[in-house]
Amino acid sequence: MANVSLKGLEKVYGNGFKAVHGIDLDIHDGEFIVFVGPSGCAKSTVLRMIAGLESISGGELHIGGTVVNNLAPKQRGIAMVFQNYALYPHMTVRENLAFGLKLAGTGKEDLKQRVDQAARTLEIEHLLDRLPKQLSGGQAQRVAVGRAIVKRPEVFLFDEPLSNLDAKLRASMRVRITELHKQLKQRGQPSTVIYVTHDQTEAMTMGERICVLKDGTIQQVDTPTALYERP
Ligand code: ADP
Ligand code: ADP
Repeated sequence: MANVSLKGLEKVYGNGFKAVHGIDLDIHDGEFIVFVGPSGCAKSTVLRMIAGLESISGGELHIGGTVVNNLAPKQRGIAMVFQNYALYPHMTVRENLAFGLKLAGTGKEDLKQRVDQAARTLEIEHLLDRLPKQLSGGQAQRVAVGRAIVKRPEVFLFDEPLSNLDAKLRASMRVRITELHKQLKQRGQPSTVIYVTHDQTEAMTMGERICVLKDGTIQQVDTPTALYERP
């Protein structure tokens, strides 16, 4: 578990466009925070800078008290879940879950235990021998979340993970992801969650705090209750 601090964080793209204008934000240890705002407000740019997938043009990014501006994604203690799942099509669910850990040199026993625990948590044990094309959208998304939790990261980053699901699945996945955050806390593996969405319902039902972005600046940061009372 780690706190994430953005200190005057800026992004200027290669074409000279300034997408993020000096953002300051302290995300607490074990917190579930949602970045929300319309398309183009820079949600994804901010998340990708935290992930290390996009360079930082100005300011500092701290994870767990360390400046990580120049650290590679792998060195940041994070795991990211994308909108388009990005499962390996030729691998079974079990192989998809195990792949990153194998690369990292995780021992066989530990690997099996982590994969089985993730599968239990996400209720995908019966799907372990299937290929991605044999999964429904919601099942595939659970596997994508599973691939992140087997890494036991200190920080989870979610980039619009439910946008490709239908309304009913979205609603059940919202509950699943918030429950997962609570479960990890109860199990003594608390994780900080940074979750990006354009969907206000998703933000209000999932976030312990909500950060509203507009044109690359922070408009408001507050709990759902406070935002609801003073919108
Ligand atoms: P950087 O120098 O930060 O890598 P670039 O300007 O070189 O950024 O663009 C990287 C990629 O993003 C290119 O493939 C480009 O086509 C794409 N891109 C450029 N402008 C936009 C935009 N307004 N929105 C989304 N993607 C863009
Ligand atoms: P959101 O995730 O909120 O939809 P983005 O972070 O994708 O917003 O984009 C923020 C702004 O930066 C937009 O105006 C977008 O067009 C611009 N942008 C995104 N990627 C690039 C890029 N590679 N080059 C130039 N501009 C970009």
